[in-house]
Amino acid sequence: MSYDENQPPTRPHRTGRGNLAIAIAALVPTALAGWLVWKAMNGPEDNEPPKALPTPSKQTTAGKPGPAPSPSPSASSPAASSTSLPPKGSASGPLAGKVVVVDPGHNPGNFRHTSEINELVDIGTNRKECDTTGTATNDGYTEAAFTFDVSQRLRTLLEKQGATVEFTHTNDRPFGPCVDERARIGNKAEADAVVSVHADGSGVGNRGFHVILPALVKGGAADTAKIVAPSRDLGERIAGKFVRATGSAPSNYLGGGTGLDVREDLGGLNLSTVPKVFIECGNMRDPKDAALLKSSSWRQKAAQGIADGIGSYLQR
Ligand code: ZN
Repeated sequence: MSYDENQPPTRPHRTGRGNLAIAIAALVPTALAGWLVWKAMNGPEDNEPPKALPTPSKQTTAGKPGPAPSPSPSASSPAASSTSLPPKGSASGPLAGKVVVVDPGHNPGNFRHTSEINELVDIGTNRKECDTTGTATNDGYTEAAFTFDVSQRLRTLLEKQGATVEFTHTNDRPFGPCVDERARIGNKAEADAVVSVHADGSGVGNRGFHVILPALVKGGAADTAKIVAPSRDLGERIAGKFVRATGSAPSNYLGGGTGLDVREDLGGLNLSTVPKVFIECGNMRDPKDAALLKSSSWRQKAAQGIADGIGSYLQR
């Protein structure tokens, strides 16, 4: 779930959203056909991003409904793990010497700390809530549990290739971190790539994944001029590998079928000084997507797709 989608479920769609939906619906068959062609023409060892994809138009997700039901206790407390890092450069493998920061979206404790996470922080271009609760499936599998599980799988895959992996948090704190701190952790680590892992909370029938890229913004501490291009490269590679690893189609409700969206309102991107993207792996509020997100074997494929995309980017 993205950071401004925690409106109540009864919130009506904005005027004009119907037109947008129709426009996107009209675009999807063509764009999806492009993806399928692209998939068919590229072998599994190809490292190139999907250059043939249409350029995505910038869109907002502010009108999406995003109810966040109470978490299920059984699903909300994945085990914390160590943040200790091996000395940089001690590993071997194709990603040796590379630093990847993985940002598990939200925190299972956010539901119990709503006043703290609603406090505004400076994102350079604006002020924004510290963090949000994230969404959940209809039967209570929380986004926070999902993001932490995928992030752990992603860490294992990246470390096997020699990368040094740092997390923004390991559920070892009561809530957060705030979005500005999440960005600073990647900056301080001088990460070669940062990926923030999420799942969306959109309407039933809205399916598929999308990767969120930073827009060109400047204001206060925010200046994305140096990261827009490398982040797009990172995001395109992750999108391409994610399709291949999971078999999931790009979002049918955002990005015109490209699986890519550009946003200027996310502090975690605006404040980053290193290449960074978000990935919304699927829509927790759609029953078919939810069934995938709840499957551990699918989550392993999702982590593999993200790891393959990062690996492709770091070895470009
Ligand atoms: Zn999220």
